[in-house]
Amino acid sequence: MKYYSTNHNSAKVTLREAVLRGLAPDRGLYMPERLEVMDKSFFAGIDSMTFQEMSFAAAQALFGDDILADDLKRIVYDTLSFETPVVKVDENIYSLELFHGPTLAFKDVGARFMARLLGYFNREEKELVNVLVATSGDTGSAVANGFLGVEGIHVYVLYPKGKVTPIQECQFTTLGRNITALEIDGVFDDCQALVKNAFMDAELNKRMKLTSANSINVARFLPQSFYYFNAYAQMKRIGKERELVICVPSGNFGNITAGLFAWFMGLPVKRFIAANNANDIFFNYLKTGIYSPKPSIQTLANAMDVGDPSNFARILALYNHSHKDIAGHISGAAYSDEQIAQTLKECYERTGYLLDPHGACGYRALREQLKAGECGVFLETAHPAKFKDSVDAIIGGDVEIPARLQAFMKGVKQSVGLSSDYADFRDFLFEESK
Ligand SMILES: *Cc1c(COP(=O)(O)O)cnc(C)c1O
Repeated sequence: MKYYSTNHNSAKVTLREAVLRGLAPDRGLYMPERLEVMDKSFFAGIDSMTFQEMSFAAAQALFGDDILADDLKRIVYDTLSFETPVVKVDENIYSLELFHGPTLAFKDVGARFMARLLGYFNREEKELVNVLVATSGDTGSAVANGFLGVEGIHVYVLYPKGKVTPIQECQFTTLGRNITALEIDGVFDDCQALVKNAFMDAELNKRMKLTSANSINVARFLPQSFYYFNAYAQMKRIGKERELVICVPSGNFGNITAGLFAWFMGLPVKRFIAANNANDIFFNYLKTGIYSPKPSIQTLANAMDVGDPSNFARILALYNHSHKDIAGHISGAAYSDEQIAQTLKECYERTGYLLDPHGACGYRALREQLKAGECGVFLETAHPAKFKDSVDAIIGGDVEIPARLQAFMKGVKQSVGLSSDYADFRDFLFEESK
């Protein structure tokens, strides 16, 4: 299977090249040339399959041309060694809990799959692959943990000094081994600029093989389609799969785009909802047909603070740029911090279910938009303890920190301090490449 660029100005590439490159040379996003529709019998029997079994079937449809079945099976089974259960929250509203992985957020799935796939593609190369990732918190922890111990790969996590929470910081600074944390004296945008400069630095790229691990990478966003199949299977088991609506708290739109891929592969879901925080660019696009990116606004659901969602290009490609089709299949919602807090508190007090600020957007959009006869699943994208300070303040409580998070907090912080000046970062990488 070949992958084309959404900008149509660079050559089609193999999966291996798409994964190693990240972004296409014309700055477009890679898309698979074809999407195989899964057999009706697959969906008819999906409720008797395990999460790993159904994901392997979906992975074969997506990646089967490029990886031997046994190797692909190992990659999928290693990635999905944790469950994504569906939990009832309200009448006809269910939470798909995606926070049972190592760093308690859904990004674990894509990061682990990408790490294993990259390791597989690079297994016969002598040269080390270096993954550069700029983070405002959650991406860095998922990527660092996903790649920990993968042979032939070194990860550099760049994060803004003093601007990530202590829980987030310890998730990528305490690992050691093939993970190096770089504490940048600046803001997130400085970290991102350093990474971009490094990718454009011809001399550096001659010395080191560099790649990125954000959701523009096909190996990170596509495997996220697996848990949509699992959501459907679980709803089918309880007889609630008819007229299913899936609601996804969205920032860069990688997660929901993976769900749309599953739908194009035949997943019997009626429609989707993209729930935003105050960064309402997609919501406005649905209403007006005009896409106008804006600088991002800081909110309580900070992993969705995105003013120009990269995967929008993939949504346009999936629907042949038809606003009518996109707006006919996906509806939107956008919530202020006040609304997020009010929803989180109301849901907790009435149902006993504790949402995180991102999941709160998803839950609220279902409550407001579900029609008679429909059943809804929202994606609970992170454990509420990851946003302990905000959640504690909203509910006036003390959220328990799961043992897995506490374990990170006992580790010893190791990081290299650097200025936000590219010359310093470059000198550091040159030193590393010796
Ligand atoms: C990254 C993230 C999101 C947004 O996902 P996208 O794929 O960027 O739309 C939502 N919630 C949490 C907790 C996240 O970490």
